[in-house]
Amino acid sequence: MSSQKVTFTSIVVGGGLSGLLMAMYLSRMGGRVQVFERRSVRTSWPRSGRSINLLLSARGLSALRELDLEETAKKTISVPVYGRTVHTIANTTSFVPYSDDGRKPVHICSRWDLHRMLREEAEGLPNVTLHYGQQCVGVDPDKGSVSFVDTETKQQHEVSADFVIGADGTYSAVREHLLRRVPANFEQTVLSLGYRELTIRPEDQDGGGLDRHTSHDWPRGRHMLFALPNLDNSFSGTMILPLNGRESIESLRTETDVREFFAHHYPDVSPMMPDLTDEFLSRKLATFLTVRTSRWHHRDKVVLIGDACHTVVPFYGQGMNAAFEDCAVLASRLLAHGDDRESAFAEYVALRKPNTDALAEISVRHLDGLVDPVRHSIRETRHRMSVRLNRLARLPGTRLYEMVTHTTAPYAECVVAAARQERRARWLGLSVLMAFYAARSWIDHVSRRLRQRRSGMKSQEA
Ligand SMILES: Cc1cc2nc3c(=O)[nH]c(=O)nc-3n(C[C@H](O)[C@H](O)[C@H](O)COP(=O)(O)OP(=O)(O)OC[C@H]3O[C@@H](n4cnc5c(N)ncnc54)[C@H](O)[C@@H]3O)c2cc1C
Repeated sequence: MSSQKVTFTSIVVGGGLSGLLMAMYLSRMGGRVQVFERRSVRTSWPRSGRSINLLLSARGLSALRELDLEETAKKTISVPVYGRTVHTIANTTSFVPYSDDGRKPVHICSRWDLHRMLREEAEGLPNVTLHYGQQCVGVDPDKGSVSFVDTETKQQHEVSADFVIGADGTYSAVREHLLRRVPANFEQTVLSLGYRELTIRPEDQDGGGLDRHTSHDWPRGRHMLFALPNLDNSFSGTMILPLNGRESIESLRTETDVREFFAHHYPDVSPMMPDLTDEFLSRKLATFLTVRTSRWHHRDKVVLIGDACHTVVPFYGQGMNAAFEDCAVLASRLLAHGDDRESAFAEYVALRKPNTDALAEISVRHLDGLVDPVRHSIRETRHRMSVRLNRLARLPGTRLYEMVTHTTAPYAECVVAAARQERRARWLGLSVLMAFYAARSWIDHVSRRLRQRRSGMKSQEA
């Protein structure tokens, strides 16, 4: 980051992953930052329960690098993972690397460890103040002021600053108040699937045959289980099921239902889930949302980042990575535009929105190939063929997954490049096929001619 200093005051609503990272960027720029978080610091940052693990990849790491946190994140709170092991119902496995050469890892870390790391860093900065138990209940986008209720005392108070950053997640109160003030499109879509977090705890040290340096998928068509390694020997599993119908969240109501379902569909892994029935029946059900809004900022006063402006379903493992990228881009635009904050916000939105829209689409599409084992293998074969055909023709060939996960190329450009490669592969495939048929017809033609000539010669001899 440039060392140019800008002085301003700002309020960050939401002390989650992107709010804390943004606070650090703003502090580096010389701003005074107050972060207001709804949860109380003492009670609400669970170490267990709904402990979702996150894939940290190139974009997230790049933002952390700018704040000198990349190495700490990699070395102290994550497990490097090189691909996905897919487990079939017949108890066979196949491996799908996360990168074309199989050598580039993604880093799996617990949401809470990552959050703790960011919180401790932010708390150590002299010009950042964190306020907990403060719920945003109102925003005046014209004034840049925010009303909070103290969740313990229930007292309401108002705070103002030069500008406000809404980093308060999927159900953002800042976004809600922004949209009340300025008309805009807002769209929320929910998949007809839900998920529950489960713990997989292999008893033996070798992980019960579950490699700690891969993620694990059990795709079963209507439902699937996937697991990401933790720092200890355990894995955090996520069971994804339809909300209704047969083999659904709705149909699995009793301990017997759950036990029989897992014994039937997940016989290899369910013995490694000692708290299966308890966890499945008691843990909160969560759903998969996509949220888009056409309005991300108001003048030079309010701007949204992270899930508050683009919640995506998690199948690509990019929501947080994209949120961290928002922080880096917004900080760079603020530095570039100096006092002209409105232009900085407008440019940030222009740079990010087409890309997070593209991410939202590929994230939903990616689910198909994850849950359905047949589609999964067709998709993988198609991608591999497409890459090979392009490379055979000495053209660039990289899987979309590789571009999204291991580069910082804008998401929309990755999608366009992958579509271009697919088109080329289709043409190249067609050309190979046509060349094959042309060669076969030529060989047929020549051998027919030879046969004719030979039979002509024989009749002359006769
Ligand atoms: C199951 C699952 C798996 C995922 N896996 C991955 C992954 O592997 N990789 C990846 O990159 N992303 C992943 N994501 C997405 C990732 O979790 C989000 O994109 C990321 O947390 C967004 O960060 P955020 O700071 O914008 O929002 P959040 O992390 O939700 O933080 C918002 C904060 O605002 C606070 N808040 C909310 N309302 C108020 C209010 N009114 N007043 C004050 N504070 C408020 C909340 O308490 C919270 O602390 C996953 C998501 C899910 C659900």
